[in-house]
Amino acid sequence: MELWMVEQNTPGYSVNWKIKQTLYRETTRFQELEVLETEELGRVMVLDGNIQVTEVDEFIYHEMIAHVPLYTHPRPREVLIIGGGDGGTAREALKHEGVSIELVEIDPSVVEASKRYLPQMGGALDDPRVKVIIGDGIEYIEKCQKKYDVVIIDSSDPVGPAVGLFSEGFYRQVHRVLNEDGLLIAQTESPSFNRDLLAGVNQTLKDIFPLVRVCLTSIPCYLAGFWTFTVASKRYDPTGEIRRAGLDSGYRYYTPEVHQAAFVLPPFIKAILRE
Ligand code: SAM
Repeated sequence: MELWMVEQNTPGYSVNWKIKQTLYRETTRFQELEVLETEELGRVMVLDGNIQVTEVDEFIYHEMIAHVPLYTHPRPREVLIIGGGDGGTAREALKHEGVSIELVEIDPSVVEASKRYLPQMGGALDDPRVKVIIGDGIEYIEKCQKKYDVVIIDSSDPVGPAVGLFSEGFYRQVHRVLNEDGLLIAQTESPSFNRDLLAGVNQTLKDIFPLVRVCLTSIPCYLAGFWTFTVASKRYDPTGEIRRAGLDSGYRYYTPEVHQAAFVLPPFIKAILRE
């Protein structure tokens, strides 16, 4: 018998995934967590019915969310990741010499499942340069007295515990914990299906930071392919000169040219951003 998972992305749009087997399933305190073996994209992590990462194309998302800010900053040292409990973003950030990473993930089961079933990502969470903190990123940042060069908001979709990770209050706290030349990047969803969210986050960040830029990537496993990241910066412009020193030649998606090209936006996205 064939097994298919229906990923209901919006009330009017769903994607079907052919499943070979269910490797893990748990109703955690925060969400419904599954690790599935798919026919086409290897193992996948699913939260509340939505694909978070696939073994086959996770490198695109993780290289972009990590390297765009980390090559924009000339000397990143202190890095804070909010969410990202699968470990993919931490794995990429570790490729930058001298970084020390704190990762705040609300759901310990995501961390454990990733270490066990997705070690290509989860393995990074055992690196001594990564301090994994289990807790709510919003509460953590409100109490935080430390300063960071780069904050990476690697959140799930804006439902459940992640809703507040897209709020003005949270972004103001991130601004507070960033150094004078610090910057943040946030995953800001699909420009086709989450237009209001993208426009709202862009405007909110513009009220707080002097420099806000959106970049666009194509991630096959995500809602309709197109995906956005928003960078908000106190000093360095991600569309300007970027650091090339220490550039790893082993990336599968990120290059300085891809970085620059990602900020060239088609008119329909500029219209969403009112630019
Ligand atoms: N790459 C993925 C995507 O965009 O689909 C998401 C990466 S990761 C799996 C997102 C993580 O954010 C989840 O593990 C989730 O538990 C975590 N998360 C959600 N809300 C959070 C919060 N308030 N504080 C910390 N982590 C949170």
